[in-house]
Amino acid sequence: RAKEKEHNSYKFFNAMMHTQMLNRLTLETDLYKALEQEEFIIHYQPVFDLIDDALVGFEALVRWQHPTHGLVFPDTFIPIAEDTRLITRLDNWVFRQACQQMAHWQQNFPNCSDLKISINLSAQDLQTYDLIDNIDTILTQTGLEGRSIIIEITESMLIEDIEKTVDILAQIESRNIQISIDDFGTGYSSLNYLHRLPVNNLKIDRSFVTQIQEENRNCQVVNTIIALSSQLELTSVAEGIERPQQLQKLKQLGCRFGQGYLFSKPLSPADIETNFLSR
Ligand code: C2E
Ligand code: MG
Ligand code: MG
Ligand code: MG
Repeated sequence: RAKEKEHNSYKFFNAMMHTQMLNRLTLETDLYKALEQEEFIIHYQPVFDLIDDALVGFEALVRWQHPTHGLVFPDTFIPIAEDTRLITRLDNWVFRQACQQMAHWQQNFPNCSDLKISINLSAQDLQTYDLIDNIDTILTQTGLEGRSIIIEITESMLIEDIEKTVDILAQIESRNIQISIDDFGTGYSSLNYLHRLPVNNLKIDRSFVTQIQEENRNCQVVNTIIALSSQLELTSVAEGIERPQQLQKLKQLGCRFGQGYLFSKPLSPADIETNFLSR
């Protein structure tokens, strides 16, 4: 009995310690080291054309292989990386790594030449004056063409400094890189600006896709986003498709592309190769 109690309190203490250790302060200091030691890895989630079920590309999603906490997901550390201004270095690393990976796949797998790699950027990246230089360097060094890249940025960051944003996005566009608005519908409304931005694609947030099979407001929101996309001659990608009914509904509403656990979770490069690429 005593032993069991001791065991339980030990377990409890341990869980508490774990939570505390995962607190901001620790993670903050660890993040600096993690960048030096390259403790990050990228998982890739396949994206599909919903019309013919063809694989069209992958979204690069960063994970932190923490020496003691194991795999840490971006929602835990991206906000800290943003606060500490480390995000630009991290995103630059992800950008390079993901382009290298895609270039490698294109060279080694014949069915890969038209696949695209989607890479997430944070607001701060767009404020960095050397973003375009960094992109050019990575394109030259990896040999990946701009047309193979899609940059994902969230809605809210686009309207912070609209003139500057238009300028940077235009420079990105001139490299034939596509631009996708991530989590569309969840941020501030940028409807006033959307037609001014060189954007190619709207990503419908998972929160709308979740309950789409019922005839409810989510369904109307998705319908509206898809209609807006086609009005502005943009494509739409639905994220977080988990159930066949959601897929059916999205197809019915005319959503062109999709990704989600129904197709595949984000996977390591090795698993992507075994499951989705063939020599
Ligand atoms: P996001 O760009 O909207 O990415 C989609 C998220 O939904 C990913 O979470 C993905 O794993 C998850 N997801 C995909 N399909 C499903 C599904 O069917 N069901 C559920 N429940 N979830 C699904 P993840 O990988 O944890 O990334 C979270 C967010 O972190 C991303 O949201 C993105 O905003 C950010 N992020 C990830 N990698 C990077 C990066 O390299 N740089 C920056 N700046 N942000 C990143
Ligand atoms: Mg994204
Ligand atoms: Mg998203
Ligand atoms: Mg999202």
